[in-house]
Amino acid sequence: MTMQEKTKGSAPQLTPVDYTVKFGEFIGVGPNGNLFVDGCDVQVLAEKFGTPLYIISEKQLRYSYRAFRDAFRRHYPDVEILFANKSNNGLAIRHIMNQEGAGGDCFGAQEMYMALLAGTDARTLVLNGSNKQDEEIEMAAANGLCINIDAMDELDRIAAVAERLDVDVDVGIRLKLDLDPLRERHGVAMHGPGTLKQQSDSTKWGMNRAQTVEIVKRALAMPRIRLKETHFHLSRMSNEAADFAVMAREMITWSGYIRDNTGWTPPCIDIGGGWTFGKWYGTGPNSQLDDASAPTAEDYARLCAAAIKEEAERLGLPLPKLRLEPGRALSGPSGVAVGRVGAVKEGTSKKWVNLDLSTNHLSWAAVLDWYYHAVPVADAEAPATEQVDLVGPLCNSDEIGPHRTMPALKRGDFVAFLDAGGYTESSAARYNAQLLPATVLVSGTSAEIITEREQLRDVVGRFRVPARLLAGSFTPRS
Ligand SMILES: *Cc1c(COP(=O)(O)O)cnc(C)c1O
Repeated sequence: MTMQEKTKGSAPQLTPVDYTVKFGEFIGVGPNGNLFVDGCDVQVLAEKFGTPLYIISEKQLRYSYRAFRDAFRRHYPDVEILFANKSNNGLAIRHIMNQEGAGGDCFGAQEMYMALLAGTDARTLVLNGSNKQDEEIEMAAANGLCINIDAMDELDRIAAVAERLDVDVDVGIRLKLDLDPLRERHGVAMHGPGTLKQQSDSTKWGMNRAQTVEIVKRALAMPRIRLKETHFHLSRMSNEAADFAVMAREMITWSGYIRDNTGWTPPCIDIGGGWTFGKWYGTGPNSQLDDASAPTAEDYARLCAAAIKEEAERLGLPLPKLRLEPGRALSGPSGVAVGRVGAVKEGTSKKWVNLDLSTNHLSWAAVLDWYYHAVPVADAEAPATEQVDLVGPLCNSDEIGPHRTMPALKRGDFVAFLDAGGYTESSAARYNAQLLPATVLVSGTSAEIITEREQLRDVVGRFRVPARLLAGSFTPRS
């Protein structure tokens, strides 16, 4: 029985909503002209739950997952989808992914703990990380996760834990692919200067060919170690599907190299994340790069599967199981972030619309120059008449939506930023001692809090004042 069969009962049928304007299958403009997430009017949600607010559509998340999974299944016989938990760490999100049959990619003890706490089948979880702590290795070993090795001393550390706990441990190896065909290809600016190959070479990730061969040889001689996969994560460097196919092909080239040098052939390749999605109104890095021309899951699947099959055929290798770790492609389109308009201010050359949503909550807007399309929540299709900067309240320029053309906005209005379901809550910050937002999960007409809004006590309560400083503040000195 496959995992998908096992979980069929809890995965509902999905019928896209018929909105007047569609921002997704379950996000769009409703009959009263307001922005809707599934069957809920966002104006009503913002008034009820307060702002800043993240809203996630359960059905959109399920829909995006299934579209991605089905595209790869159409082109490849044996596919497992591992949701990149870091893109949205919510426990409810993890439960939904479990019900869909998704595995998961975990970084660090807490992500692993939360996935296990949510009941994810540990055999479908991998632990990645460049500097794994003893505590992490132990938790992974004790629970049966696959540990992707990314340091020369990691194998011995895992073996020692395996001995001590008296368990067998699944391991993979994170590779440092050569990516020679990408030496002339340029990626997106968020990964710094240079070609795709230079960008990939310059990261801390992965083991080179000689290191990989050494790890495999040593692992094969260790009774408690079970070699399971090789791993690579190109990340969001490019939105050309062909670049991902180059990477997928090279995974198999390395499988051939590993076989020739060790006798072991990886039964599974895990080709990581970085898969994008496009929207007709634009989203993503480099200012709206991901528009209607962005690759679809179908494009990725067709090209990657073909490259893998061709290279396996050329080298006489059996087709391995294929694992993928999409994060943002699943969580991103499932969520919106909502802020409330406060002061509207005109200067000599610009107009600023201040919101209570900030770059603390949409951190990629500031750090990566990421574009989130903004729409007014009420009367979402009102004609856009003015150029404004949508800004948050932080002490820096706090530009969450620079140079936007919007209808006239006034104090009390709500503005929603689309495709903000990934890497927003999970990378939210508390700069200026802001309180972290709440998150609401919408399904049909139901809306439930899945992350509580942070309270003053959460921010203040972690601080300590050494006793010796107290007297000096309260007692007049003479
Ligand atoms: C971040 C990450 C992912 C997910 O990346 P997305 O761009 O969200 O798809 C997958 N695998 C690894 C190892 C990662 O670090």
